[in-house]
Amino acid sequence: MSALGSYPLNIEAMEILLSLSKEVKYGELSQLKFQDKEIFNIFKKLIKDKRIALMGSSIKGLQILGLLEFGNLSFDNVFIVGMKDSAIPAIKKDYSLIPKDIMYALGIERVKKEYEIQQYYFNRIISGSKKLNLIYPDNDKDERSRFIESIIWNKQSENKDINAVKINKFVLPRFSVNYSGKRKHAKTKEIKEYLKNMHYTYSKIDTYLNCRLKFYFRYVLLLDEGVKIRQELSDGDIGNFVHDFLRGALYENLNSVKLKSLEFEKEYFKKLENNFANSPYFKFREDAFMIKEILMHRMKNILYYEKQRSYKNIYSSEKKYVSSIEAKFGDVYKLNCKIDRIDSNGKGYMVFDYKTGIIDDNIVRKKYLDLLSDFTRQNIKKAIKSLQLPLYKYIFEKESGLTVLECGVYDVKKAKINIFPGDVEVYEKCIDVVRSLLNEINTGENFEFDNEDKVNCERCKYFYICK
Ligand code: SF4
Repeated sequence: MSALGSYPLNIEAMEILLSLSKEVKYGELSQLKFQDKEIFNIFKKLIKDKRIALMGSSIKGLQILGLLEFGNLSFDNVFIVGMKDSAIPAIKKDYSLIPKDIMYALGIERVKKEYEIQQYYFNRIISGSKKLNLIYPDNDKDERSRFIESIIWNKQSENKDINAVKINKFVLPRFSVNYSGKRKHAKTKEIKEYLKNMHYTYSKIDTYLNCRLKFYFRYVLLLDEGVKIRQELSDGDIGNFVHDFLRGALYENLNSVKLKSLEFEKEYFKKLENNFANSPYFKFREDAFMIKEILMHRMKNILYYEKQRSYKNIYSSEKKYVSSIEAKFGDVYKLNCKIDRIDSNGKGYMVFDYKTGIIDDNIVRKKYLDLLSDFTRQNIKKAIKSLQLPLYKYIFEKESGLTVLECGVYDVKKAKINIFPGDVEVYEKCIDVVRSLLNEINTGENFEFDNEDKVNCERCKYFYICK
C-alpha cells in the first residue's frame, strides 16, 4: 500500500476495487452464501466492464489507444489486440424493422458507412506504423477480423504465394481459477426459501426448461446485461412502442361494431401519429420517416385483420393477474402474468399475446404427441417451445371462473393469430409440465448442467461465467 500513491493508475484501480467490494458486501447478493470460486466468478463479471483512463504522451513510452484515438500519430511498433471479426470492425446491428436492402435503396447506408470509417482508421494505423502486430484469438468461437483477411489476401496475390504471410502462434499464460468443472450450483437453504416464495412467470419456467443454469444465473443470482443507452433502435424499442400503441388503441370494452366504423379508423390512425410524434424511441432519428411508414403499414394491416375477425368485444388489454398452482407433491407456488389481450365472443374468451419479433408458425411442435406418451425432460423440450399460452389460460380461468375457448400468439408483423392446439389433452399435459418443472426447481440439492442444453451455450450471455 505504501507505493500506492506513486503511480496514479494504482489509485484508480484501488478505487474501483474498493467500490466493487462495497457492492458485493452491501448489494442484493450480500445475504446469499456462495462458494469461493463462485464469488470469484461474480467478481470477474463485475470488473469486466470497469474502465481506467490511461494518460500518456504520444512522444515517449508505451501508449494504449483506441482505434479512433490513433488519429494521425505514427509509431515504431503497434500491437492491435482482440482482432476478431465481431469486434473489429465493430458494426452495429441492422434495424429489425427495415430490411437492409431497402435502407440501401433509399441511400441510408449506415452499416456501409460505419465499415468504411473503420476501414479508413485501420488503414491509417497501417500507414502510421513501422511494425504492425495484429493479434487475434484462434478458437472455434471467433473468426479473425476481415481486415486481417484482406491484408493476407493482398499479400498472397501480390507475391503469388499462399504462404506470403507468416502467422506466429503463441499461447497466453492462463490465469486460471480452480473451476469445479461440475457445472452445478448448490441450492442452499436460503436459495430454497427464495425459490419457494418466488412469483413464477412463464418466462422463468421457459428459461428453466431451456437451461437450468440459465435460470440460476438470471432469476436466482439476478445477473443480467446492463441496459445500454444506444443510438440504434432495438427489437425491444419497437416491441414496446407497438405494445403501448395497441393497448391504447384496442382498449378494454371496445366492441367490434365500433372497431369497424370510420370514426374508429380515424381515431386509430390519429393515435398512431400522436404516439409516434411523442415517442422517445424515434425522436431525432434521421430515418424516423421510414420507421413511421413501416409502422403505419403494419398497424393498417392489423386494423384490417381486426375488422375481419369475429368477436364481440375486447374484454381486457394488458391486464395483470396473480394466481397460484399446486405442484406435483402438493406444494403451492405463486404465479404472475400480464395478458396482452382477452376477447369475448359472448360464449367464451380468447387469450392472445402480441409478438413483434419473428415467431414460429408451430407453437406446439408436432412432436407433442411424443410428450403424451413419454413424459421426460427431453421430450418436453422437443414438444413445447413455450408454456406461456397454457399458463395464461390456466391463470385466467382460475382467477376469473370464465372459460377460454382458444389462445394464440398474435403475430403483429404478419397480422394473423397462431392458435394454440385446441386439444384439451395437450393443454392439460402442458399444465402437468408446469407442475413438474416447479417441483424440479424446488427440489434437489443443485442446479445442474444438462448435457442436452449445450446447443444453447454458444449464444448464451452467461457463456463466460458458466465455464
Ligand atoms: S452457457 Fe450453456 S449451460 Fe451455461 S447458462 Fe448458458 S445455455 Fe446454460
